[in-house]
Amino acid sequence: MSETLFTKIINRQIPADIVYEDEHCFAIRDINPQAPVHLLLIPKKPIDRLSNAQAEDQALLGHLMLAVGTITRELKIENAFRLAVNNGADAGQSVFHLHLHILAGRALTWPPG
Ligand code: AMP
Repeated sequence: MSETLFTKIINRQIPADIVYEDEHCFAIRDINPQAPVHLLLIPKKPIDRLSNAQAEDQALLGHLMLAVGTITRELKIENAFRLAVNNGADAGQSVFHLHLHILAGRALTWPPG
């Protein structure tokens, strides 16, 4: 897989507001926020989309979920946030490197658009 936008960000080739980083993942503020808090949680391993994750990625996917807890507690949004994963262009995916949107800071309606 060729280098993605998010790989370039974590390699510090492209600037971004990195709010969290550990061995396996990092979180940045979305450049076009859809809520007062809009983060992207991104595995360092460039899986192109969730539906292409493999059994070998099981621990990584679990790690991302636990990182959500860590990050949302740090930002004190742990009581009200939404996770979203856009999988495929027709679902709104524009960057083909798996990422979890973390949205918070406003009332979040259901169903999402
Ligand atoms: P998706 O449409 O689900 O693939 O999400 C990609 C997200 O990346 C969008 O919400 C964009 O606003 C965001 N984005 C694109 N380029 C950057 C960037 N350079 N820094 C931060 N966020 C970005």
